[in-house]
Amino acid sequence: MRQDFLPFSKPSISEEDIAAVGDVLRSGWITTGPNCAKFEDEICEYTGAENAVAIVSATAGMHTVLMALGIGPGDEVITPSLTWVSTVNIITLLGATPVYADVDRDTLLITPESIEKCITPRTRAIIPVHYAGVPVDLDGIYALAEKHGITVIEDAAHAVGTFYKGEHIGQRGIAIYSFHPIKNITTGEGGMVTAPDNDFLNKVRQLKFHGLGVDAFDRNTQGRAPQAEVITPGFKYNMTDISAVLGRRQLAKLEEFNAKRTRLALRYRELLADIPGVLPLEFPENYDFTHAWHLFIVRIDIDGLSRDAFMEKLKEYKIGTGLHFRAAHGQKYYRERNVVAPGGLVNTEWNSDRICSLPLFPDMTFQDQDDVIEAIKQVIKV
Ligand SMILES: *Cc1c(COP(=O)(O)O)cnc(C)c1O
Repeated sequence: MRQDFLPFSKPSISEEDIAAVGDVLRSGWITTGPNCAKFEDEICEYTGAENAVAIVSATAGMHTVLMALGIGPGDEVITPSLTWVSTVNIITLLGATPVYADVDRDTLLITPESIEKCITPRTRAIIPVHYAGVPVDLDGIYALAEKHGITVIEDAAHAVGTFYKGEHIGQRGIAIYSFHPIKNITTGEGGMVTAPDNDFLNKVRQLKFHGLGVDAFDRNTQGRAPQAEVITPGFKYNMTDISAVLGRRQLAKLEEFNAKRTRLALRYRELLADIPGVLPLEFPENYDFTHAWHLFIVRIDIDGLSRDAFMEKLKEYKIGTGLHFRAAHGQKYYRERNVVAPGGLVNTEWNSDRICSLPLFPDMTFQDQDDVIEAIKQVIKV
């Protein structure tokens, strides 16, 4: 057995990254400033998005985007239940109703077909998740949304470095990235909203900074006009330059990080191929894509061994795992309040009970990975 605990994820931060953060700390300007502005530009350059706003988290991005769209009581928002709870929380906090589209059993993606079943005259938005780093069927989903006059907000938390038919995620419509430490690149905590419509993003810029009629940092005045006044009550969600400088350095290494993730993920698929009951996800077959390999998810489908017991036992072998995600509709608050049509989320529930994320991060070694496989074999007694 290995000596040290293998976490399921770990950020890759170099001494040069730490030095760059030190330079910002010594510079006299540590909050939203030139590094945030450059980080926004660099995200646009890399993804092909036209405009971007740096923000403190993807959750804050979702909050401000849904508010900027005017979503509130009486509105329905379609989302998978198999997503991070922040999306369902924000919809609920705004007084709107989450409506859950079932996922495909083997890709965990929501599809135009599963979304269409959820559309009503009250539907205002669809929030698909590019799960684990695989894009949803953008053409199908945007066509459906256009037909019904609904806005698409892409949850791109797993998808920096994901391409759909050669197009980077974030290029087409409103998309929200996360830079939480487990994501493909990190700023400590942070996120980015991209959109083709800069007037729309100006509303997000306002809401993320007190609702003032100016951004937190004006590129022309190198600060902000102190006379600015409140246009609409807003929040305090601006990213700091301490975070942004780290994000810029991480972005420059994204392709290297994702190449390392891909190499490990493909090796996992080979090593797991002859282990019964530990089932990797499958890939969508009707479109080309590039996988960002944010997560390596398996489903534990073994009689007499629950997913929770599997995770617990792996921990005894010093192997960390993650759970992305427990279905939101099954969690206490939502279970007690939301009614989901019986039998309506079959694939979501089947996966919610079985999914488990195995360790995957750029600095993980093949030896680490062999330890994971050996521990799995011990735990399931192959
Ligand atoms: C991480 C994550 C979020 C939230 O990101 P934060 O930056 O932590 O707010 C939202 N959706 C999905 C699918 C995620 O994985």
